[in-house]
Amino acid sequence: MWSRLRALLPSRRAALASGRTIPDALWQDTLAQLPFLRALTAAEREHLRRLAAAFLDQKEFHGAHGLAITDAMALSIATQACLPLLHFGPAAQALAWYDDFVVLVVHAAEVVAPRELTDEIGVVHRYDEPLVGEAMERGPVTLSWQDVAAAGERMAEGTNVVVHEFIHKMDMRDGAADGCPPLPPGFLGTHGRRAARAAWLAVLEPAYQAHREQVIIAERFGGATPWLDAYGAEALEEFLPVACEAYFVNRARFAQEFPALLALFDAFFRPGNPVSKS
Ligand SMILES: [Zn+2]
Repeated sequence: MWSRLRALLPSRRAALASGRTIPDALWQDTLAQLPFLRALTAAEREHLRRLAAAFLDQKEFHGAHGLAITDAMALSIATQACLPLLHFGPAAQALAWYDDFVVLVVHAAEVVAPRELTDEIGVVHRYDEPLVGEAMERGPVTLSWQDVAAAGERMAEGTNVVVHEFIHKMDMRDGAADGCPPLPPGFLGTHGRRAARAAWLAVLEPAYQAHREQVIIAERFGGATPWLDAYGAEALEEFLPVACEAYFVNRARFAQEFPALLALFDAFFRPGNPVSKS
């Protein structure tokens, strides 16, 4: 069934990458489109290129409603998706974070998803939710190309739709979208998974609550609008990807706004190991 479905969809396994390296000109163009990558070291950029090539080799891109996915589009998405994986070892090991799915669905622009919510007295509310991206547990990642392509312009505001959806994937790697990805043994000097999780939440939760309060004061009482995207105030499991967007695309501003989170994210995303050579 699945393979048949695939055959019916306009599918693309990016031709440029299978087992090969990414052509120089295409890579240079991609770097130019994504100015936040200038903050990386040369070794990190080279490793990111290897990760992106391996990602393209493993994943399939489907353009929704006939949208043609060019090599440049696929590479831009792959590169941004792999940014959080820079310090998780060789490509094969790092990409295990994303091995629960194969398909990326790319829409030309944001899509409106019909939603249904049953409230506590049993009334069903139907509404439309505009989506720029979505990550399903053990399912595809959906992205709006218009929003992916705006990554460079949105660096100052610290938002990035691709990083957002792939942080959801990392969070869901242990089965629950709960704002806490699976943490390595001994994380922050803890013993056992429960203690590691407690240490993670002890930093993330107060930052989330403070952001939530700021957003509420801004929206209801005309207080100063926080720099970080207000969407992060929706729930802890949204605060994590929203904060990570800012961490990955505007580290300098993020460091000023969230010093405690910077240290937490560095401990997780940059666990002191040098960039892998494979
Ligand atoms: Zn989200």
